[in-house]
Amino acid sequence: MDYILRATAAGEKIRAFAIRSTELVEYARSRHNTSPVATAALGRLLSGGAMMGVMMKGDDMLTLIMKGDGPIGAVTVTADANGNVKGYVNNPLVLIPTNYAGKLDVGAAIGYGTLTVIKDLGLKEPYVSQTPLGTSEVAEDLTYYFAKSEQTPSAVALGVLMNKDNTVAQAGGFIVQLMPGAGDDLIEKLEAKLAAIKPVTEMMEEGMGPEEILDYILGDMDLEILDKTPTQFLCGCSKEHIARGLIALGKQELQSMIDDGESITVKCHFCNTDYTYSVDELKELLQFARIKSASKKVGILGDDDAVNDFLDQADDAGSNDAE
Ligand SMILES: [Zn+2]
Repeated sequence: MDYILRATAAGEKIRAFAIRSTELVEYARSRHNTSPVATAALGRLLSGGAMMGVMMKGDDMLTLIMKGDGPIGAVTVTADANGNVKGYVNNPLVLIPTNYAGKLDVGAAIGYGTLTVIKDLGLKEPYVSQTPLGTSEVAEDLTYYFAKSEQTPSAVALGVLMNKDNTVAQAGGFIVQLMPGAGDDLIEKLEAKLAAIKPVTEMMEEGMGPEEILDYILGDMDLEILDKTPTQFLCGCSKEHIARGLIALGKQELQSMIDDGESITVKCHFCNTDYTYSVDELKELLQFARIKSASKKVGILGDDDAVNDFLDQADDAGSNDAE
């Protein structure tokens, strides 16, 4: 089972997270049919994103987008505060030579660009931060983000190890952060520990889980595990959910689809599921686009209430299992 541990150490001067994400990254690989380097890129960002997700609360949503000039295009991950995470890469089939160390070259696959972090905390405007990508190896880029945008010195390690048949053997990682008030001696001790540490996937291959990894790093610094959150790849999409997006395209766009006289297929990028809408269904959606636009005009229904009511009923009627 995949899960995330949240912990503190050194009397709350350090906070830490560790994840085992082998199953969710393998699920992402099979869902998106990613090449090994794309699996590594997506798997690392999914693992980091899932841990950053549980740093939030309630209905908060986090989106991470690594967009560079490399052949993969962009890597996009969305996570909630409850361990649910989903993501995709623009070009899942990208193949590039391994790097000088014989490792999957995630940095070259992503290339130079920016990391965009969007936090929807239920406020009027989401929090958006952009930082330049450094190595584009994902962990270092998240470390830079924490330092630059959150003023939190952090050590981030993320790893995905592939089997010979290109399925995922191990995936996981950790985030260790210094809280305000951490003294120089504590910082030196932690730095020395982290400098000597093996790659995460190597530790996992030796049978170490998140508990053992945190214990290895922080075991002599009053480590306290606070909680354990199951984590999974979960896309909440459904035919009704995608329909809302089609309605939002507006009357004219829907009418022109109907005039084409053919069913249309819309793909959910996050989970690579196709949803097909027949001409009759498009006509139904057009009705709702009309209601929506009319209600907007007279201002009585305010916030798409009629459309939402209908779609909620349709949701309840089933057919919303996207997996
Ligand atoms: Zn989906």
